[in-house]
Order: sequence, then structure tokens, then C-alpha cells
Amino acid sequence: MKNKMKNILILALLLVFGKTAEANMVMSSFELKGASSDNKFMVSDSQMATDLEFRFTLMKYSDPSSPGDCYVTLLYTESPEDNNFDSHPSTIEISPTKYVRKSEFASHGTIFQSVWLPAILPAYRFSGRIVIRYRFFLSAQNKEVSWYSTVKYEINAPSYVSPGDLSKIESMGFSTNGIRSFKNDYYLVENDILIKKSSLNISNPIYAVNNNKEHNINIWVKPAIQPANSTWNNALYSAVAAWNANPSSDIKLHLVSQYGTLDVPPPHDIIVDSDLGVLSYSQSHAVEYTNGDGKAGGLILVNLDYGYSSSTQLVNIMIHALGHSLGFKHSNTANSIMANNNLSGYTSAFPSAVDEPIINSLYPLNANSVVTPYISGISNISSSWGWGQDYDMSYFCFGITYTWTSNTPHPYLPSVGQARLPEWSFNIGSHELKCTTSHSKYTTPIVATKNIIVQ
Ligand SMILES: [Zn+2]
Repeated sequence: MKNKMKNILILALLLVFGKTAEANMVMSSFELKGASSDNKFMVSDSQMATDLEFRFTLMKYSDPSSPGDCYVTLLYTESPEDNNFDSHPSTIEISPTKYVRKSEFASHGTIFQSVWLPAILPAYRFSGRIVIRYRFFLSAQNKEVSWYSTVKYEINAPSYVSPGDLSKIESMGFSTNGIRSFKNDYYLVENDILIKKSSLNISNPIYAVNNNKEHNINIWVKPAIQPANSTWNNALYSAVAAWNANPSSDIKLHLVSQYGTLDVPPPHDIIVDSDLGVLSYSQSHAVEYTNGDGKAGGLILVNLDYGYSSSTQLVNIMIHALGHSLGFKHSNTANSIMANNNLSGYTSAFPSAVDEPIINSLYPLNANSVVTPYISGISNISSSWGWGQDYDMSYFCFGITYTWTSNTPHPYLPSVGQARLPEWSFNIGSHELKCTTSHSKYTTPIVATKNIIVQ
């Protein structure tokens, strides 16, 4: 009698889960140790991995033809959907797969209760959910399927902002919602703005950039972007060209790089690098804001895994990111490049009618100011290497012509015409390489030189 009651109860539970007719397997419970009753789990430090424990109950429909084996894995996902988590690029497995054999189900053949099982939530994964995937053979469809637990746990991370810092960030004009500590040295504000904690202590901060260098700003593109990721690198080049082309403002952006370990690090104000997996799936980038000391925000992190929709979107994202490092905040106007972080569907040319007066009032054009460019490339060369070297002029605009010359003349050098001098070889000796261009905004020609020694 007791067994019969139990079977009726199980049958009722199966009916509740609504899959009785076709299901060989249903996950009837899923617990995450330490989660709240409303299925939220607070990690104690989002910058470190978190050890987790979970357990589950499987119910097997007692179909004698069912193989009855099941593979159970804990997943972390930032998918907004409630199913098909495996098709979302943010989804990762965070536990070893637990293999439940048919013989492990209880004697009545229908229930498997697991012990507490280990899992590890990686660092910086604090904006998604945790769900169980269970894979089994579904007789009704005659194939193996992946189903997911109906219970899902939402991950939260505490905010570490001191009250003093919070009021400073608020007085700078930023939202105080969702501020998080980021890579120890920063606060992440409004999803993509990094505020250096130490910068909050600067008295009388100035948020306009590089006035002392007539707005010449060097951007060091790290190897994860150039040469490793041409998609993001092309977007960065186009974004730099867009800022430089703006006819009535005085921002002079330069792209610089280091050609391997034999080259010296280039002088730089901003570094552009991969986020190394720190940013969540939905964040395309994070940018250090102007530091208040008259310098540009020094770091732009790009999420190389970001699921962008078009190359235009990536260009707009990089224009937006550079905007933050130059001291521009988010805008409430839809027609602004600073309107939102990921800019999918944004189609206005840069600068839009909304952005132009704001940019030009902070950085008005000074036609007599001087563009001070840099040539990237190796300056100490061994003639035994046997191949040429690349050299790049830092000041980049579409539609301007570059003239390369040397104090040791070469007949083909002046005909190159591009910002890059590709695979160029020099004779043994000392050379002064020179690249000259001009921009209609400025009265003074733009000239860069580099001393090269070949031994
Ligand atoms: Zn932004």
C-alpha cells in the first residue's frame, strides 16, 4: 500500500511537470548551496572564482525500453532566453559532467538523488544565471536531447563602492546604479566606463584632454588587436579616422604599435587591448574615463568574443569608446554616438548634429596647432635578418597622401603613398626615415621622422 501511494505521488509529480507522455527523464529538483529562497546567489567577490555546490533529483519515467542513462552538467549563461542555452555564445560548463547510470536510480526505478557536487564559477561571471543541462535518450524522438532545469539561479555580485567614492562619482554626473569594482584599480560605471579609483582623489580635476600637447593623443594597439584581430583593428582605424576627419574639432589621434620584443614601446596615452575574458558576453568594451589630470583615459578593453551585427556597429563602438577616453559621458539623445554602449542599429554619420557642437566646444579647432606624429617600427636592425621591416605613420585619416623619404635616397620610397611602409629594407648604416602628409584642417605640414640603424 505504501509503495502504491508513492507511485501515485510520483505519477502526479510527472503530470505536474507536464512531460509524462514523452519524457524519459525529468529534473524534479535543483538546489544551489547558499542561494536565497527566491533563487538568487550572491558571489562574495566577483573578481575571483567562486566554489559552488549543487545537487539535483532526476525522475525517470519507468519505460522498460528507455536506456535510462543521463548526463548532468551545471552551466553558466547570459542568454536572455529560457531555453536552448547551448546555442548562446555566453554559455559555459562550470562543473564536471555527472553520469547517472540506469542502475543508479532507486530500487523502484524512478528516482535518482545526487549528493552535493562541486562546480566553479569563473571570475567576472556575475551577470548571468546558473542552470542544469541534462542529456538523455528521448524515446519519443528516438534521439538524445538536452533539457534544462526549470529552476535557474540568478547570479549577483556586491558593489564595493565606499560612500565617499559613490558621492564623488555622482557629482561627476554618472549614474550610481550597478557600480562595481573592476580589476581592483577601477570602478565600472554605466556598464562600460572605468573610473580609476585613485583619480577620485585629484583636487580640481580637469576633464579635457592633452591641452598641453595640442590634443595629440597616441593610442598603443596591443598585439591581441593588431595583428591578431583584423576585424577590431579595422574598426579602430576607421574610428580614429572619423575623429581626425571632424573638420571643426581639434582631436589628433595617433595609432602606434610595438613591432615585437626587439622594438621599443611606443610613447602612448591610451592602450587598446583584449579584455582577456573579463567582460561579460553582452559588453563589447570597457573604457577608462578621462582621469581628471588632463590626460586621456589610459585603457580601452575590447571583448573579442562580442557578437556584433555589422562592421559599422564595431566602428561606432570604437568611436564611442574613444569618446569616453576623451572625456565625453553618455547622452540621453538617441542621435548621439554616446547614447548607448553597443550601438546596434545606430546609423548617423559621425559627428551627428547632436554631437558636433558638444565635441567642438570642448576641443575647438586650432588651425595653427601642430600634429606631432610618430613612426612605429624597429629602429635597430641586423642586416643578417634578410627581410624588410614594416613602418607605420601614426596619424591616420582616409583620403590623405603620405610621402616617405630618407636622407639616404631610394628611388621607390616616395611612391609608396600609404600610411604603412611595408617590408622595407635598408643598407648597413644610419638612416633618417621621414613621412610627410598634410590635413586641410591644419596650416602646418605633418612630418614624422625615425632614426634607423642597420648593423
Ligand atoms: Zn559608453
